[in-house]
Amino acid sequence: MKPKVIRTVKQMKEWRTHQHESIGFVPTMGALHLGHAQLLKQCRQENELSVLSIYVNKTQFNQSSDFENYPNTWVTDLEIAESLGVNVVFAPTNEEMYPDQYRYKITENEFSTELCGAHRPGHFDGVLTVVMKLFNIINPRKAYFGEKDYQQLSLIQGMVKAYFMDVEIVPVPTIREQSGLAMSSRNLRLSAENKQRASMIYQKLSSGLSAQQIEQELREAGFSVDYVVDKGLRRFVAASIDGVRLIDNIAL
Ligand code: AMP
Repeated sequence: MKPKVIRTVKQMKEWRTHQHESIGFVPTMGALHLGHAQLLKQCRQENELSVLSIYVNKTQFNQSSDFENYPNTWVTDLEIAESLGVNVVFAPTNEEMYPDQYRYKITENEFSTELCGAHRPGHFDGVLTVVMKLFNIINPRKAYFGEKDYQQLSLIQGMVKAYFMDVEIVPVPTIREQSGLAMSSRNLRLSAENKQRASMIYQKLSSGLSAQQIEQELREAGFSVDYVVDKGLRRFVAASIDGVRLIDNIAL
């Protein structure tokens, strides 16, 4: 069955108040790929109803060109949603999501300043704020987040705990191309050649080299590297190729 497409907060809340089943929620920015599909499959298995949001959240982009060039594949996204049994696609406008013009925001003061936060000022404020808004609108019992964005996942888990929110955050392992490259909507912006080169990120990450060595080798291969860092029991990397910023991480 085709999913119901809802574009306003009012309608989304109205739909929600009439549901008594368990609701699983997968927030995305669209341009769906097999990584998103994995989240949606697990959501469907574990809940009676599944809600997918497709919303490119401007407040989490620190570079306007990245926001403007963010891929949009709406028609295929809807087909994928239908094939995976999604019940509702929530796709609001900016006006719907930010009636306050972003005067109010959620800020975390420690981990959000490291790794991607150190290179993308304000990014995690935007992420936490929009996720809080989406949770308040949809009120899911479970919400699914990919380990590909491990720092994001961890900050959202922290937010849910800090604000006593009644939602279970379910982590989903990273889905990769055969080459090892972590699937990402931004991969659509890579040429075939650069996509092949980008697989070096995961190959190096899992090579047993030190973080410093990996950083050097990626630079030598033409990547612009934001960081390769070991933190806790994980190794994190962020590097750009041809202006497309890619992130990945593995358990050590
Ligand atoms: P995005 O549309 O990039 O904001 O991602 C929406 C959700 O999908 C986030 O929870 C991501 O962590 C997750 N996700 C994106 N890519 C992958 C992947 N390759 N494997 C698993 N989860 C992913």
